[in-house]
Amino acid sequence: MSAGRIGKQAVVIGAGMAGLAAAGAVADHFERVIVLDRDGLPNQAAPRPGVPQSRHLHVLIPGGQRALTDLFPHFERDLVNAGAVPLRMAAEIRVEIPGLGPLPSRDFGWLFYGASRPLIELTVRRQAERLANVKVRSWCRAIEFTATPDGNTVTGVRWEAPDGRQEVLAADLVVDASGRGAPTLALLRSSGHGEPDEVVVGVDLHYTTATFVIPQDAPTNWKGVATHPHAPERSRAGYMMPVEGNRWILTLMGRLGERPPAEPDGFMDYARRLETQTIYNAIKHAERLGGFERFAYPASVWRRFDRLSAFPRGLVPIGDSICRFNPVYGQGMSVAAQEARLLGQLLKQKATKADPLAGLAQAFFSESLPVIEAPWNMSAVPDLVYPETPGERPADFEQRLKRHGALLRAAMHDADVHRLLSEVQQLLKPPGVLQDPAIDRLVERELIQMAAE
Ligand SMILES: Cc1cc2nc3c(=O)[nH]c(=O)nc-3n(C[C@H](O)[C@H](O)[C@H](O)COP(=O)(O)OP(=O)(O)OC[C@H]3O[C@@H](n4cnc5c(N)ncnc54)[C@H](O)[C@@H]3O)c2cc1C
Repeated sequence: MSAGRIGKQAVVIGAGMAGLAAAGAVADHFERVIVLDRDGLPNQAAPRPGVPQSRHLHVLIPGGQRALTDLFPHFERDLVNAGAVPLRMAAEIRVEIPGLGPLPSRDFGWLFYGASRPLIELTVRRQAERLANVKVRSWCRAIEFTATPDGNTVTGVRWEAPDGRQEVLAADLVVDASGRGAPTLALLRSSGHGEPDEVVVGVDLHYTTATFVIPQDAPTNWKGVATHPHAPERSRAGYMMPVEGNRWILTLMGRLGERPPAEPDGFMDYARRLETQTIYNAIKHAERLGGFERFAYPASVWRRFDRLSAFPRGLVPIGDSICRFNPVYGQGMSVAAQEARLLGQLLKQKATKADPLAGLAQAFFSESLPVIEAPWNMSAVPDLVYPETPGERPADFEQRLKRHGALLRAAMHDADVHRLLSEVQQLLKPPGVLQDPAIDRLVERELIQMAAE
C-alpha cells in the first residue's frame, strides 16, 4: 500500500454536495472510492428527485467555494467555463436591511459565482469523477450498513438497484452523505449506541421560486439582491441572484404561515410587498421562464453526534446528515464542503498511525464543532427572534441580537467592520475575529445611540 493509503475501499452514500466533496477528500487514502446515489445522475445541469431543493436559489458563499477549490483545484475555473456569473460579494450584491437601508457597495476583493444548484453540483461531480480511483454510480439506493455482530464496526453497505437486485459493498470507511442520515440513525439504534440529541429550531419557512430572463435594461448598480424582512413584525423576504444562461433566479420567502403564492399575480404581488421595491421593479417587465416551485422547510436540525459516548468505527456522517441549516443564510453546501476538507485533513494526519481509522469519527465530530457552531449561531439563533418560533433561546439571546444589530449599524459607516462581518458571514473567518476591543468600542457607541432613538 502506498504512503497515505489507509484502506482498500471507501463507500460514500449520496452524490450530493457533501458526498462528492467527501469523495475528493478521502480519495488519496483509499485504493477505491465508490459513491452511490439512488438517483439517475443527469449529464447536464438538471434538477433531480433526490435533491428536491435544487430548483431553488443556491448561493455558494466564498467559504464553501474555497473549501471546494482546496479539494478540487479546477473547480472555480470549470464553474466559470460552464457559465457561472462572477460576482464581487459586497460590491455587486445589494443587501437591504430594514431600518438601515442597503449596506454600502464596497469591493473587498473576493469573487464568488452565481450558478444554479444543478450546475454547482454537476461541476463538483465532474471533478470527483476525474479522480482515477473514484467511481460515482447512479441508481444505487443504500438500504443499510453492514457491521460486525457487536455493531461496533461498519463493514460495508447493502444497496438496491431499481429492479430490486441487492448487493453488499465491503468498505473500510463509509461516509453517510445521504442528506437525512437515515442509515446512520438506523445502525445506531440497532447496535444500541443510541440516537444523538437533536437541537431543533422550528423556523417553518416557505419558499416559492421563479426564474426570469435578465432584461437588457437590468439595473447596473447590482447583480444580485437580498431584501431582508422586517423581523419580527414581518417575514416576507426576497433573494435574487444571476445564474448561468442570463437568468435571474428569484426565491420569495415567508415563515410561520406566510406562504409566497405560486401563481403569476400572487407571486408578483408578494414581490411588490417586500420591504423595498428593488426586486419588483427589476422583474415586473422581465420574461419568466417556466413555472413556480415551492419548498417547505419546517425546521433547522443539528444532530449532536459529538455528544454520543461511542460511535461505530468506519462510519462518518457528513453534511445535512449532521446539520440542516436554515437555507436563507446560504450555508449548507459550504459547511458540507468545509467538513469534507476537514475529513481529508484528519485522514492525512492519521495515515501514519498504526490504526488510522481508530477514533476517526470522534475526532471528526469534535473538530467539526466550530465549522458547524459558527454558522448555526449566525442562523438558527437569530431565527428565534420570531416569538412563535420553537427552539431554545440562549441565556444571552437579547444581548446577542442587540450586538448583531449594532454591528450592522457600525458596518454601514466603517468599511473594516463591514469587511470583517462579511468575512465571518461568508465563512471565511471565525466569529472570534469580531471580538476585538476596537470593534467593541464601535458597538458600544451604536448601542448607546440605539437606546437613545
Ligand atoms: C430550499 C433550499 C435552499 C437552499 N439554499 C442553499 C443555499 O443558497 N446555499 C447553500 O449553501 N445551501 C443551501 N441549501 C442547503 C443545501 O441544499 C444542503 O445543505 C446541501 O445540499 C447538503 O448537501 P448533502 O450532500 O448533505 O445533501 P444533498 O445535497 O441533499 O444530497 C443528498 C444525496 O444523497 C442521495 N441519497 C439520499 N438517500 C440515499 C440512499 N439511501 N442511497 C443513495 N443515495 C441517497 C440523494 O439522492 C442526494 O443526491 C438549501 C436547502 C434548501 C432546502
